[in-house]
Amino acid sequence: MKFNKIVIVFILALIVAAGAWAGEDTDKPNVVILATGGTIAGSAETQTQAGYTSGQVGVDVLINAVPQIKELADVTGEQISNVGSQDMSDAIWLTLAARINELAASDKVDGIVITHGTDTIEETGYFLNLVVKTDKPVVLTAAMRPSTALSADGPLNIFNAVAVAADPEAKGRGVMVVTNDDIHGARSITKTSATDVQTFMSPERGLIGVSLYGVNRWFRYPYRTHTSKSEFSIEGVKALPRVDVIYITADVSTDLIDCAVANGAKALVTAGVGNGNMTGPALEAIKRAIAKGVVVVRATRVPSGSVGRNVEVQDDEVGTAVSGELSPAKARVLLKLALLKTTDVVAIQDYFDRY
Ligand code: ASP
Repeated sequence: MKFNKIVIVFILALIVAAGAWAGEDTDKPNVVILATGGTIAGSAETQTQAGYTSGQVGVDVLINAVPQIKELADVTGEQISNVGSQDMSDAIWLTLAARINELAASDKVDGIVITHGTDTIEETGYFLNLVVKTDKPVVLTAAMRPSTALSADGPLNIFNAVAVAADPEAKGRGVMVVTNDDIHGARSITKTSATDVQTFMSPERGLIGVSLYGVNRWFRYPYRTHTSKSEFSIEGVKALPRVDVIYITADVSTDLIDCAVANGAKALVTAGVGNGNMTGPALEAIKRAIAKGVVVVRATRVPSGSVGRNVEVQDDEVGTAVSGELSPAKARVLLKLALLKTTDVVAIQDYFDRY
């Protein structure tokens, strides 16, 4: 009798141990890491050289480099793409967003982390902020140094990103970007240095919080509409419309504006000077574009502040919309999605005022 009891206890212990070994610890949140490439997955021949290639190592290597994440969550990984984010595309965005929506709908998933390059993470983050349909945490992370570098910043960024994705307090804060201990909102974040590890800032709105070795402190919720409350959807969308950004300088040539229109751009974003201003000839070219049915949104090349209506350019007369505080790159993202719904400039201005 006593011997039978010992055998039963032993078998039960084996079952529990096997469950834990297989990653079925139901006490911990389930986090899925979707890898897209970037320097975080980059590699170089030596630990100290500047040159490297982005998107070289796979998601398993990224996960295995940070075994400590298993203390935070039960983690699984999937490879969505493996590109430097300079090659991020509408097609990858659509695939990524669709997969996030699928995963987020499952009650077996508590949070999602996306590894990405730093170059365009702000565009991908804002796109996802507009089209993913969940209040569960969706967190992008990246690194300035390749995985093979001395003092690579990727592993701690992944650790902190998983800590944020596993945190119930992260729910309802929209898509976030976690790098160098900071938690940014996808709408507010921008890359400010081509080389520094501390490159990301949220100039107008400030941080959403910080994550210090996986301990999160929360400061705010994003104010603008996002994720589950967003009107934008990628359901059934196979491609996004072409929107070009025109960089304005003193005495800028107007050729690029005419050329973009002639080659099929459905909308233009001007990266204007100051409050979204441009030269007289550029404004004439913009009027020609609008006359051909092209939607135009004025943004600014200045890194902070916001572009207002009818300040120096008379938007009501010209027929332009303004981007507010959205950078030209982010204005382009919103415009691509807005064009799926309308080409009416008043309705488009309304989207820019709310998103
Ligand atoms: N070119 C790289 C990328 O965006 C840079 C980085 O990740 O830091 O993929």
